[in-house]
Amino acid sequence: MQRPRINIVWFKRDLRLSDHLPLQQAIEAGLPILLLFCFEPSCMAHVDSSNRHWRFAWQGIEVLEQSLARMGIPLFWVHAEALETFQTLLQYAEIQSVYAYQETGNALSYARDQHMTAFFQKQRINWLEYPSGGVIRGLKHRNHWEQYWLSQMNAPLVHPDWAQLQVFVPPPDLLARLRAQPLPSQLYQNFPDFQPGGTHNAWRYLHSFLHSRHRQYFKQISKPAAARHSCSRISPYLTWGNISMRELWQATRHALNAGGDRYNLEQFGSRLFWHCHFIQKFESECRMEFENLNRGFDTLEKPVRPDWVQAWENGYTGFPLIDACMRCVNATGYLNFRMRAMLVSFLTHHLWQPWQQGVHHLARQFLDYEPGIHYPQFQMQAGTSGVNTIRIYNPVKQGQEHDPTGEFIRKWLPELAPLPTAHLHEPWKLSALEQKWLGWELGKQYPQPIVNLEQRATHAREVLWKWKKNESVKQENSRILKTHTKRKSENETLIMGDPAVQTGIFPAKKQK
Ligand SMILES: Cc1cc2nc3c(=O)[nH]c(=O)nc-3n(C[C@H](O)[C@H](O)[C@H](O)COP(=O)(O)OP(=O)(O)OC[C@H]3O[C@@H](n4cnc5c(N)ncnc54)[C@H](O)[C@@H]3O)c2cc1C
Repeated sequence: MQRPRINIVWFKRDLRLSDHLPLQQAIEAGLPILLLFCFEPSCMAHVDSSNRHWRFAWQGIEVLEQSLARMGIPLFWVHAEALETFQTLLQYAEIQSVYAYQETGNALSYARDQHMTAFFQKQRINWLEYPSGGVIRGLKHRNHWEQYWLSQMNAPLVHPDWAQLQVFVPPPDLLARLRAQPLPSQLYQNFPDFQPGGTHNAWRYLHSFLHSRHRQYFKQISKPAAARHSCSRISPYLTWGNISMRELWQATRHALNAGGDRYNLEQFGSRLFWHCHFIQKFESECRMEFENLNRGFDTLEKPVRPDWVQAWENGYTGFPLIDACMRCVNATGYLNFRMRAMLVSFLTHHLWQPWQQGVHHLARQFLDYEPGIHYPQFQMQAGTSGVNTIRIYNPVKQGQEHDPTGEFIRKWLPELAPLPTAHLHEPWKLSALEQKWLGWELGKQYPQPIVNLEQRATHAREVLWKWKKNESVKQENSRILKTHTKRKSENETLIMGDPAVQTGIFPAKKQK
């Protein structure tokens, strides 16, 4: 029997039907199309992965499936490795081309893509991969990247012409073969403390942000309780491509023109730029998943204390804001930027642990886990990028400043509820008598601090500041700046992505 000739659109982290170039191109090519998504067991079992990620992906798939079903188009999702899936598909169809977005993923997905390239070449299948979100593969320097990014964001949206789509319907026995292994049942459960996946939810979150929530955006961005409402919360939708960066960018500009708060929307817009800046950094130097970005830090000794790492992971360090943040992210998958940075700073500076000891735990907890942002950000906060200012966040001061009433700490550490606000951030300062009056005992309901905060911060500061002056660190710094930043002139360099730098990406206000 002759196999039908088809094209395949391979969905990865682009779970949407609008502004989707591979989809549009595949439809234009004219052959019957199979729309495919693989829940790959190897990726799902990887050290940086957790069910919460795949549940979010599943929710996105379910929405796509329903939207496509209304047009009579099936979505073929399988629980199998990509290679196995394509090998099986070849028994049923002659595949002419596979259309997909380039993925800036972890080393595992990169290796998979390399295997697939070799496989497609051997099978004489065209693999057409399209750049995603302004990120350029194989980029050697950043000289014109900013302009390229802006041109991508301001270009017209790419909408597939559904009327032209011809469908390839996979036979039922093929589906049965590739879905033989069920997905974990947890993926189908509803966890109300987590953001729900899917395109409609991406737009729901975005609309409420652009309509009103953004007005408090910058004022509350560092506050662990308030930021949950006044930040956009768009990150997991970007990670899974439920909305494209271009759609997000253009909707933000539209909101600005429609009377949105300029200052807050500009702050938000500059972070959309950072999103791609960090992914570009990782795309250009992906060894930072495992190694120090600045090799000058390779010989810095940090003895591993598994008991401290465990206390950090579970939120039992004895430092209320650290523990509240960790328990919160473990339970909900979300934490605002400042508190993420503080958790990493505490692990790598106060506890003096190698960043590799904590990077996977937080990857598993963040619902928005995006390797291209996560690894560069983690290293930036750990100080191993070399070029950025090292910040050692004092969790007591952060608590007093950003959670002054203790609302956030009390929510996540109910065992501290009896404490007066004045002592909430430093429970170890309560005298034995005060503890007795409160019917509360340090070391019983809540742990003693596992380290001396001031001593550890002083130690970290002294070692790191001295270390930064090493010749090997300086040499690496100039290499890093050349690769990852835009050269303004021979001796001037702009460190894009540093929160201190404004990009000025929105057009200037019109003069009256
Ligand atoms: C150690 C560490 C790890 C991080 N890991 C991730 C990650 O895996 N995935 C992820 O999306 N973000 C990560 N971030 C960046 C940032 O904390 C989140 O993007 C942000 O908190 C998401 O919330 P939001 O969507 O409400 O952000 P908003 O403040 O509303 O910002 C809008 C969008 O801009 C982008 N953005 C905001 N801040 C940053 C930033 N500092 N760097 C890069 N992009 C930014 C995100 O795409 C975000 O969704 C990490 C930060 C740190 C310090």
